[in-house]
Amino acid sequence: MNLRPTVDFLLYDWLKVERLPCRARFADHSRETFDAVLDTCERIAREKYAPFNRLVDTQEPQFDGEKVILPQATHDAYKAYAESGMLSAAQDYEIGGMQLPYTVEAAANAFFAMASVSIGSGMLTSGNANLLMVHGSEMQKKVFAAHEFSGRFSGTMCLSEPQAGSSLSDVMTRATPDGADFEADPLGARYRLRGHKMWISSGEHELSENIIHLVLAKIPDANGQLVPGVKGISLFIVPKKLVDTEGRLTGERNDVALAGLNHKCGWRGTTNTLLNFGEGKYPVRGQGGGWDGTGAIGYLVGQPGDGLKCMFHMMNEARIGVGMAATMLGMAGYHASLDYAKNRPQGRPSGAGGKDASRPQVRIIEHADIKRMLLAQKAYCEGALALALYCARLVDEQHPGNAADADVARLLLEVLTPIAKSFPSEWCLEANSLAIQIHGGYGYTRDFPVEQYWRDNRLNMIHEGTHGIQAMDLLGRKVLMDNGRGLQLLGERMQATATQAQAQAAWGAEADALRDALGQVVQATQQAWAGAEPAQALANAVPYLQAFGHTVIAWIWLDVAASLGDEPSPAAQGRRAACRYFYRYELPKIGAWLSVVASRDPTCAELPEEAF
Ligand SMILES: Cc1cc2nc3c(=O)[nH]c(=O)nc-3n(C[C@H](O)[C@H](O)[C@H](O)COP(=O)(O)OP(=O)(O)OC[C@H]3O[C@@H](n4cnc5c(N)ncnc54)[C@H](O)[C@@H]3O)c2cc1C
Repeated sequence: MNLRPTVDFLLYDWLKVERLPCRARFADHSRETFDAVLDTCERIAREKYAPFNRLVDTQEPQFDGEKVILPQATHDAYKAYAESGMLSAAQDYEIGGMQLPYTVEAAANAFFAMASVSIGSGMLTSGNANLLMVHGSEMQKKVFAAHEFSGRFSGTMCLSEPQAGSSLSDVMTRATPDGADFEADPLGARYRLRGHKMWISSGEHELSENIIHLVLAKIPDANGQLVPGVKGISLFIVPKKLVDTEGRLTGERNDVALAGLNHKCGWRGTTNTLLNFGEGKYPVRGQGGGWDGTGAIGYLVGQPGDGLKCMFHMMNEARIGVGMAATMLGMAGYHASLDYAKNRPQGRPSGAGGKDASRPQVRIIEHADIKRMLLAQKAYCEGALALALYCARLVDEQHPGNAADADVARLLLEVLTPIAKSFPSEWCLEANSLAIQIHGGYGYTRDFPVEQYWRDNRLNMIHEGTHGIQAMDLLGRKVLMDNGRGLQLLGERMQATATQAQAQAAWGAEADALRDALGQVVQATQQAWAGAEPAQALANAVPYLQAFGHTVIAWIWLDVAASLGDEPSPAAQGRRAACRYFYRYELPKIGAWLSVVASRDPTCAELPEEAF
């Protein structure tokens, strides 16, 4: 089974991306150029990624004491991806980009995520460079971002520390000015960093000439104390190897040392590291090194204290990317289990007189329960892919255009980002579990790929803001910001879809159900907050996230289904069935989720520890 028809349908028939070239930024593009990008990525994913997905799972990164060793296939995949131009696809022509709409870039990247999610880590490199294009100085763009876009350097995102994961205000990495002339460095105000960064993906390897770490750290106040809270956090570029103002390596190794590799449940093709900054393993620029010495050299990005604000640029991008990865892992499991179900004979149908053992067995796809599990996967994964591309389209709509439309797109994206990340992380993982179930015992072995998809996908509810943190972001911030304008705009889009669907007799019940679900979400939002302390309102934030996510996917599916008209093809029939499945089997769950939100049910929050 091939992903391309689904991508083509969503891009062209549903989202009409071929209309984007009427915006000045995309004027040189057309369906032909979009198709050429999709063709290239599909081919590279098929040739350089998919065949090695199991290999990178079994041959984990190894540290030989000096270097991290990765399979040759990972080097080949990295090279092919960089050469495709995808690292800078959305960037301006002047810096070698293609000015490709982000919607098309995201769709093209879906092929890689489905083929082998962990062999490539391009998302971090382009996210890192994209951040520098917005918040970096001209010199930082030229010296660091440009070489990341070409693939010569790769990038990381260094937020987490052993004691500071969800709570980034507690980071303890310190940055102190490097000498009296620290502000005179052409690469940016120069600091010395000391501290530990945990869980850093692609933190050490030999895939690229250099690794550009973007590091959150605190600049101590005049008394040498770290400022509590996120306001004290600043952002620094810390290259593994130092460079000059032309981006050439100076031959000096910066003091960033690998303390150890993390051995993960899945996603094993990507190195994951504990890094020590400024421990003195690589004393740099000769002033002694060591914890009491000079530290790793880092260059300030933006203003002191603005670190987290700058980093959100990369984190928001990464959240949509994580959602897309979760979606495509779900989709990979769906395709694998569909193929298996079409070929596995097992059991016989029950007729009026019971089962006739003399008749041949049927293939399991003929059993209603297997069809249920396939349709659930399709509804979760294709719905999530449609949402991811819808969000990507909102990114493109922020290119003027007119400022009011751009602002609407921005607000909608703010509200939808926690869903684009969390819905697939939870429900496309569930899809992977169903794919294992369809395989029966074989699904529980390493002879079939579905167990790896599940293990790889299990990460997505954890990184880039855990499920719980996303939920609190949604209920505690996103639906409240600008006096609830984001939620209101989303509601308007849902109402418009319901009106359009209502005009077709086939979708009247679903249109009513969507309006009802939206009403329940809005009401529960108000009730959760009515006169409540934040701790009470947010105690059931995860059920709120689940209900919100299901309402969003129900809206997306109705919009997709209504766009099909009377199209008789099997693909359209499948999409209509996935929509109906979601409304009949999934959407009714929101009642239970929202009831504990609206009543601020204290069952969990108030249980004393001793009672567990
Ligand atoms: C494979 C992998 C790759 C990663 N890559 C990177 C990377 O490249 N760069 C990077 O900086 N980080 C990375 N991370 C780190 C990741 O973002 C953190 O693991 C995540 O933010 C959670 O932090 P933690 O592990 O310390 O868990 P904790 O923050 O300790 O959370 C533990 C549990 O407590 C819950 N919890 C925490 N605080 C609250 C609260 N206030 N209210 C309610 N519940 C709460 C959480 O939801 C979670 O369920 C990666 C992690 C993994 C596993």
